[in-house]
Amino acid sequence: MDTASWIYPRPEGLYVAPGDFFIDPSRPVPRAVVSHAHSDHARPGLMEVRATAATLGIMRVRYRGAAPQMPQPVGYGEAWEWGGVRISLAPAGHVLGSAQVVLEYRGTRVVYSGDYKRVPDPTCAPFTVVPCDVFITEATFGLPVFRHPLIGGEVEKLRRSMALFPERSHVIGVYSLGKAQRLLCLLREAGEDRPVYIHGALQALCDYYAGEGIALGELRPATVAAREELRQALVLAPPSAVREPWARRLHDPVVGFASGWMGIRQRARQQNAELPLVISDHADWPDLLRTIRETGAREIWVTHGQEDALVHQCRLGGLTARPLTLVREADGED
Ligand SMILES: [Zn+2]
Repeated sequence: MDTASWIYPRPEGLYVAPGDFFIDPSRPVPRAVVSHAHSDHARPGLMEVRATAATLGIMRVRYRGAAPQMPQPVGYGEAWEWGGVRISLAPAGHVLGSAQVVLEYRGTRVVYSGDYKRVPDPTCAPFTVVPCDVFITEATFGLPVFRHPLIGGEVEKLRRSMALFPERSHVIGVYSLGKAQRLLCLLREAGEDRPVYIHGALQALCDYYAGEGIALGELRPATVAAREELRQALVLAPPSAVREPWARRLHDPVVGFASGWMGIRQRARQQNAELPLVISDHADWPDLLRTIRETGAREIWVTHGQEDALVHQCRLGGLTARPLTLVREADGED
């Protein structure tokens, strides 16, 4: 018998039976809690949705008419009840607005992590550990081989390359939600004060972040910028757009990608990244284990990534652990 048999996967997503709602459903449902606005967690076409104001705001920017019909913003730590289940949100440190979902029912506390990281990020509230009985953790980088390097070194790598090749432009592939804005903030913190050129696909979300008071510095549109202006420029673009025709206007560009996956040499080679930057918005293996330990949970459900190794490691540590299989369309945002 499960510690929390009242929460289980259905084809639409993770279902909380007493409250009759889903967490991060993969299909349109009447009632849901959404952990964050990445498209593999926040789908279009939902009805009543509770999430942080920023998550709902980003869903509105992305989905417009298909954004939640009845958005209900909830602050971190603010609790409500659905069908006898007490629910609240806690910061997940993943992207702006990202939250863990805390569920309490009949004396058992379950925490659904959503995507999370423990490394400080200037664009979002830091992850907070919520003690619980059952911890549902993501496992995107759930293999012992994943140990993300210190972030400062990766930003320095980019700045050093820009100093070393001042005559070349630098074009960096970044996911449009979270990674782009985090890299911009990190560059500004490191003292980079020149304008940064961004691909049109990044504009709306950068505008949203800036509107939320996150300082991204001066941004200029890359796709309409004159060839001369782009010479020596730093350009951010979605990974898929890095090799599109507009990029031919760049001058002998140094091509890089910012992603946790850049830690795998083979991936970096596949993408032909001259400048792989290992910048991840997910916990690496040591941080997954540390977080599991710190929650004090005796039971761990592992989802969204490399489940098997983490389940095995938890069992070795004397915990009850199992994979939780959820239907999910990966969008590769990390
Ligand atoms: Zn995510």
